[in-house]
Amino acid sequence: VKASNPLSFSLQAKMSKPVQARRLEGIDKNIWVEFVKLAATYSKVNLGQGFPDFPAPDFLTEAFTRALSGGNHMLHQYTRAFGHPPLVKVLAQFFEKLLGRDLDPMTNVMVTVGAYQALFCCFQALVDEGDEVIIIEPFFDCYEPMVKMAGGIPVFVPLRPNPPKDGKLMSSADWQLDPAELASKFSERTKAIVLNSPNNPLGKVFSRRELGLIAELCVKHDVLCISDEVYEWLVYDGKQHIRIASLQGMWDRTVIIGSAGKTFSATGWKVGWVVGPNRLLQHLRTVHQNSVYHCATIAQEAVAQGFQRELMLYGKPESYFVQLPKELQQKRDWLVQSLDGVGMKPIVPEGTYFLVADISQFKSDVPDVPNSDEPYDYRFAKWMVKNKGLAAIPLSAFYSEAHKNNYTNFIRFCFAKEEATLKAANDILQKWKQEKTS
Ligand code: PMP
Repeated sequence: VKASNPLSFSLQAKMSKPVQARRLEGIDKNIWVEFVKLAATYSKVNLGQGFPDFPAPDFLTEAFTRALSGGNHMLHQYTRAFGHPPLVKVLAQFFEKLLGRDLDPMTNVMVTVGAYQALFCCFQALVDEGDEVIIIEPFFDCYEPMVKMAGGIPVFVPLRPNPPKDGKLMSSADWQLDPAELASKFSERTKAIVLNSPNNPLGKVFSRRELGLIAELCVKHDVLCISDEVYEWLVYDGKQHIRIASLQGMWDRTVIIGSAGKTFSATGWKVGWVVGPNRLLQHLRTVHQNSVYHCATIAQEAVAQGFQRELMLYGKPESYFVQLPKELQQKRDWLVQSLDGVGMKPIVPEGTYFLVADISQFKSDVPDVPNSDEPYDYRFAKWMVKNKGLAAIPLSAFYSEAHKNNYTNFIRFCFAKEEATLKAANDILQKWKQEKTS
């Protein structure tokens, strides 16, 4: 292109400005983009990304069909920006029961595009340039880039594993915060802590004692709590999910985040919510009204009907929130057995869709590359999907850059799958084990 051509000159000049906003620096990589593509290309059995391959319950899909073609054509139009009135009303009724306090559907609840957008609203609305946000490792990976996009500084504190000495399988409860270490992360610079109980990826359900410790520090240092509770109904072995907002001094400083995707096994619907005090939610509404503004009306209507059913059946055996964890516990146990049977030691999760397994005994199959930039578990998971057709996610994806290399012996499996899918995974593992020993 000749510079004497005035048109080409002006085009060249335009291309010289940086296009990328500074807030995106260093956050361009995303585990899901990479591993979802690998699973789509190579996997025979996909236990990677967290979504059920079994159908959503009939009462929910029927509610969607009714909303779609039931004659109320207004359900195809915009609804209230901060949440379709029937949905915020029933969510308020439901959470009144769970939290034991009165809630105003219009100011204490907001509907979001999945829990993802709820998280985004929290960080954008509550975190300022230079604010520190404590994140407990391992963590759902988007917390770190979302804090950074808001100008905040993530401060990491790890759950530390204490293997049981009696030869029993490890449980997610054996991963604990060191109280002194946690306390050392709080300062006047701390704006918020992100809590995720039940936790993705470990499946840890924080105990009342652990939550009490976090709550005490939040109150002492005037820190907010962004409480991601998307797996609130998926708790096993009679364990109880405790809401940190119900602990003393916490309601006024906590935003509870939920997901219809996880609650009703319909992750593609992308309906989520926040519940909290108006003093916090009013600022989340500002982000919402200036970003997505509004979520799909029909999906909100159907989720509202799902919650109305659950409100009626609350605590009864027919309730989906009673049935789903029972089914998932069975699936967890199948996968625990399969993995334990071949020596890929599982860490038995107390909740969620996920379990983390130790790959140490399988390392000889996948050669290490010393001084590589890629953590070993990434290489292992890639090798496994390409060579065995089994997709899982490396655990170090759930750690900060600084701590990734301490946790490269584990991969995460999703067990929210049909029995046939879990059997197919078992077949792959058994065959692999036989090849190793023959
Ligand atoms: N938080 C956690 C801990 C999650 O695991 C997920 C989904 N994997 C989300 C939030 C996002 O939920 P949603 O699909 O409703 O956006």
